Amino acid sequence: MIENGAFTVEPWCLRETSLDMDRLGQSESLFALSNGHIGWRGNLDEGDPHGLTGSYLNGVHEVRPLPYGESGYGYPESDEVVVNVTDGKMIRLLVDDEPFDIRYGDLHSHERLLDFRTGLLQRTVEWSSPSDRRVRVTSMRLVSLVQRAVAAIKYEVEAFDNPVRLVVQSELVANEEPPPASGDPRVAAVLDAPWEAEGFASDGARIELVHRTKNSEIMVSVAADHVVEGPPSTQVLAEGFPDLGRVTVTTTLKPGERLTIVKYVGFGWSTVRTREALSDQVDAALVVARQSGWDGLIAEQREYLDDFWDRADVEIDGDEEIQQAARFSMFHVMQAGARSERRAIPAKGLTGNGYDGHAFWDSESFVLAALTYAIPEAAAHALYWRHDTLPEAKQRAELLRLKGAAFPWRTITGKENSGYWPAGTAAFHVSADIADAVVRYIHAVTDEAFERHVGLELLVETARLWLSVGHYDVHGGFRIDGVTGPDEYSAIADNNIYTNLMAQRNLRFAADVAARHMDRCAELDVKKEELTAWRDAAEAMVIPFDETLGVHAQAEGFTAHQMWNFAATKPEQYPLLLNFTYFDLYRKQVVKQADLVLAMFTRGDYFSKEQKKLNFDYYERITVRDSSLSACTQAVMAAEVGYLSLAYDYLAEAALMDLDDLEHNTRDGLHVASLAGTWIALVSGLGGMRRTVDSLSFAPQLPEGITRLSFGVMFRGRRLRVEVSPISTTYSLKEGEEFEFFHYQQSVTVAKGRPAVIASTATDTAVSATPPSQPVGRAPAHRVAAGGSPPKELRSE
Ligand code: BGC
Repeated sequence: MIENGAFTVEPWCLRETSLDMDRLGQSESLFALSNGHIGWRGNLDEGDPHGLTGSYLNGVHEVRPLPYGESGYGYPESDEVVVNVTDGKMIRLLVDDEPFDIRYGDLHSHERLLDFRTGLLQRTVEWSSPSDRRVRVTSMRLVSLVQRAVAAIKYEVEAFDNPVRLVVQSELVANEEPPPASGDPRVAAVLDAPWEAEGFASDGARIELVHRTKNSEIMVSVAADHVVEGPPSTQVLAEGFPDLGRVTVTTTLKPGERLTIVKYVGFGWSTVRTREALSDQVDAALVVARQSGWDGLIAEQREYLDDFWDRADVEIDGDEEIQQAARFSMFHVMQAGARSERRAIPAKGLTGNGYDGHAFWDSESFVLAALTYAIPEAAAHALYWRHDTLPEAKQRAELLRLKGAAFPWRTITGKENSGYWPAGTAAFHVSADIADAVVRYIHAVTDEAFERHVGLELLVETARLWLSVGHYDVHGGFRIDGVTGPDEYSAIADNNIYTNLMAQRNLRFAADVAARHMDRCAELDVKKEELTAWRDAAEAMVIPFDETLGVHAQAEGFTAHQMWNFAATKPEQYPLLLNFTYFDLYRKQVVKQADLVLAMFTRGDYFSKEQKKLNFDYYERITVRDSSLSACTQAVMAAEVGYLSLAYDYLAEAALMDLDDLEHNTRDGLHVASLAGTWIALVSGLGGMRRTVDSLSFAPQLPEGITRLSFGVMFRGRRLRVEVSPISTTYSLKEGEEFEFFHYQQSVTVAKGRPAVIASTATDTAVSATPPSQPVGRAPAHRVAAGGSPPKELRSE
């Protein structure tokens, strides 16, 4: 259940009806606006009070030294940290000399509303100053999805019973006070005043600040222009200072009168362009924004979002909260990737500074798993970014005396930023995850140019890595030793199955794609013998199996480790990483997040149906979900092995991760991979969508309480809609050529205007076996549909 009573359950928006100061930080993340290039946290317009102030530009970071107690060869010496750029959201208000601050006076009403269809964040407040002057403040904010360097605010103040003298200070603020430092490794490093002023300007209703980061030498220009409408007494004054630009609007409103200010904010950054060039670029953005006008910007936004929802909407009947959470999730996933254009998609998107703003495997394995089928062009851009960072990945491999490309565990620019070897550099699977995202994209999108240039090179360089990380043992098996798989509670393990199976796919596809482009291979110096070597290694890949227990071992020796003492672990000791040493965690059977279970999803082709169930049962008992990346995968595999009710529980956990602040750190930014995981749990979990050799397959099933699920999938230029009810599934093609795919084992063909309706059969429905239990205290909350009971005849058994 969405626990914050201030949030209402509505299908197309997130509405907050009262302000809970203890949850301010969380709500700033939930209400963040972004287009993947600019990110604005949902801070109150007047800046104070706040949980964490944040404005981000994708890629803009500072570099700080990475200190080590004991250093070692190959440790990264510096760390890239996302920085809070000049704040353009700030609009302060004084009512008869008293600052509008909700901590003083009387707050009669408060509402914030994030509308998933318009992309607007709207706030309406009625407030009386301590000397009893009452005003209504309405603000609307957008970060344009169409004009990617532009954000805008429409700010209105209305007087009630008495005339009021108003002063509105619309500002640009640099070097805002940083948040206090924290001991939690998932929180960002604190940088004090990272910006050096390069210049400022003010003219009419326009202000600009130009700054440069001290070490990374990134120059950022932020400018704002204003259109003001008010009574004749209204006056406007612009002023500039090194860290502050301010447009002051003064007026007196009679009861019923209104002051309206539209603030256009433009952003630009560069490491190479001159200050003048940057200012011109931002000027140009502002001129176009002003020409569009507020109404034009919101019309463009709506059009962009209509198209997005037409492709990607997921409809759920029977559980209104999950419906809302699903759209909330997809809205934020869209925001994270829509216009990131050859930049990373960080683990928190641009909604907070958690994890220093770094991107991890989260992007390729979770975010792109959804974006590829919703906004394929955004998925391509994310992979273009990885391709742009190949030089850094190759240098890293060279430093490690390996071949090919070793992609970083955490990064902003492509350089390795992980100072912790076991969980960082040793997590080589990130390179296979990138390769898999390439394979997924090539499979789902007809994009020859991408395959020949970007895809091929990424596959080749990652395949080369595996051949150099792994080796043949005396029995002829190809082993990959000493790596960390997705489960960060085990490290430097031999033959982690997830890593080995993903590397196997990487090697095979590299050989296949290379064989299709032998002319390009010459440029990359790939010889036929190399393709043979990749195929041979893939064939000989070692996959550990515990014959005694009859299950796969997550890595060699894992199932022989001592069991973690779950009974003695107190609820407040989770996440374990904050309360136990890694030494203790690494040598025992305790799983932080789906690892082998993830392999059973991504490499489902490798495991038999029976084996999947046995493995799921074993690992479910020792998985503690100390990472938000776990629940969605457990949802998918629980659905596949027949624990539909458990799948629903995990789906809800992924969907409510941030709305309910389940990890208690949503204030640092949203868990974007978990948000994408909501889509994965719905589409690949309940919808059962998988890749087949040349198409897709579906295996839909609905848990008790959900009476309809409908989702869209973009596949090779087609828009497919899948509509599942307890009695049948309807596949309709909205756009594109005839499409052949699988519904369970059955081949189905649809064309535009020729949908296929397939009745559910008893064998489709999940076996109602009793699922295994989770470690004490770690069971997911049991989900009971929050949306009324379904009609009796529609209930699944
Ligand atoms: C998880 C990683 C993940 C990172 C960023 C960690 O807690 O274990 O798998 O990449 O968070 O989301």
